[in-house]
Amino acid sequence: MRPFTYIAPQTLDATLDALRTAQPGTKILAGGTTLYDLMKLDIETPPAVIDVHRLVELDTIDPSERELVFGAGARMADVADHPAIRTDYPALSESLWRAASQQLRNMATVGGNLLQRTRCAYFRGGPEFPCNKRTPGSGCAAIGGQDRGHALLGGSDSCIATYPGDFAIALIAFDATVDTLGPNGERSVPLAELHVEPGEDPTREHVLAPDELIIRIRVPATPAGRGSTYLKIRDRESYAFALASAAAGLTFDADGMINECRIALGGVATRPWRATEAEQTLIGQRLTPQTARHAGEVAFAAARPGTHNGFRVELGIRTVADALRTAGERATR
Ligand code: SF4
Repeated sequence: MRPFTYIAPQTLDATLDALRTAQPGTKILAGGTTLYDLMKLDIETPPAVIDVHRLVELDTIDPSERELVFGAGARMADVADHPAIRTDYPALSESLWRAASQQLRNMATVGGNLLQRTRCAYFRGGPEFPCNKRTPGSGCAAIGGQDRGHALLGGSDSCIATYPGDFAIALIAFDATVDTLGPNGERSVPLAELHVEPGEDPTREHVLAPDELIIRIRVPATPAGRGSTYLKIRDRESYAFALASAAAGLTFDADGMINECRIALGGVATRPWRATEAEQTLIGQRLTPQTARHAGEVAFAAARPGTHNGFRVELGIRTVADALRTAGERATR
């Protein structure tokens, strides 16, 4: 790891001051569970880091009737275990519990979790691998290479790296927004607009400026929260990234027809993926094995499998169908 300057402001105002005067390339450090890894791999080489993980202003969890609000510095484990979130938004709680390990969840923040970078082995493997994300213009070793865990949706001819997070999948299903703070003040960014597809520039992964900090995450209240789940399928039951995952939330009218439907996909796309067309197929329908599977098929209709990852199309369809079944059971309890 290269030497760097460590800055630990005590307040949000002091953090803003530090950002204003920071050297180019300075990084914001939250729980440190991703950034330090990337620094050890020489992928991130910041001259300085600004540590925000002790800022009490960012360490809040506030479920109200109108919306859920998390400070970006809240620990994954604390949000996952919050009684109101477990009851009213099991998909959010489960997406956090099924990520990483207990030690990492105790340390990692929900804001940092949203911005974690891909686990593509070529990206992390070293400069000897062609990788447009790590070395722009060098090519993409995954395209035509070992792509078992790479994206089926949202890829480009430059990059097919999968967005690795779980929490963002549940958040996008429930129309979450992130509030950010930068030199020009606060702004709000819908989670659906936070991450970007690689296109021709895989180095750009989100719309935030280098000196912009996520300060809170807001989730509008909806009855579909109670009838929700996050299903994650992976090679082993713990401490592994998703081969396919789905967040689902449902409500039914008095006749048993679906009147609200939320579906988002994880582990299969280059960014958190809301399956809005799949949602529409279920509105006004009964939830049956056939309608649930059809929604999964619609969700994956645009999938572009590569050499080794085609099996995850069917896996993803079944994951959506199974998540809908669990959401339906919860919604009708
Ligand atoms: Fe690099 Fe993206 Fe290709 Fe992986 S998929 S090698 S991150 S360009």
